[in-house]
Amino acid sequence: MASIFSKIVDGTIPSYRVAEDDRHYAFLDINPVAPGHTLVIPKRETDYIFDLSDEDFAALHLFSKKVAQAIRAALPCKRVGVAVMGLEVPHAHIHLVPLNTEKDMDFSAKDTDPDPEQMKNIAEMIADKFSELNA
Ligand code: 5GP
Repeated sequence: MASIFSKIVDGTIPSYRVAEDDRHYAFLDINPVAPGHTLVIPKRETDYIFDLSDEDFAALHLFSKKVAQAIRAALPCKRVGVAVMGLEVPHAHIHLVPLNTEKDMDFSAKDTDPDPEQMKNIAEMIADKFSELNA
């Protein structure tokens, strides 16, 4: 059965899209630990990130780097934190989180009811910076 994230890629499930290329898709986490919390996934479904081929693993990280640069350009933050967990969704993904303090990376303190308008605006700001930086 297709993962939730495959359904996001094919548009069956909506998402706040921030960037994509032919092999990768980036979108806001629906329960962000900080505003701008983004997930980056390979479009082709693989459960465990460390089962990706070396080439796919490297490509996912290089794409994530571009997304992280766009996040930092769009949102006030000291750094963009990186995490890989995969305990909930069996489709490889990288979490990118705008950080100002260590607490911004507390995955036990998610926003379970983020404001849709704010999510839309944040996604658009990151998407605009991504386009600008990769024109
Ligand atoms: P993990 O698998 O890394 O432990 O966590 C999966 C992450 O995906 C969680 O942070 C969760 O909030 C997010 N997530 C789960 N389902 C959806 C969804 O349908 N849409 C979006 N945008 N994020 C989701």
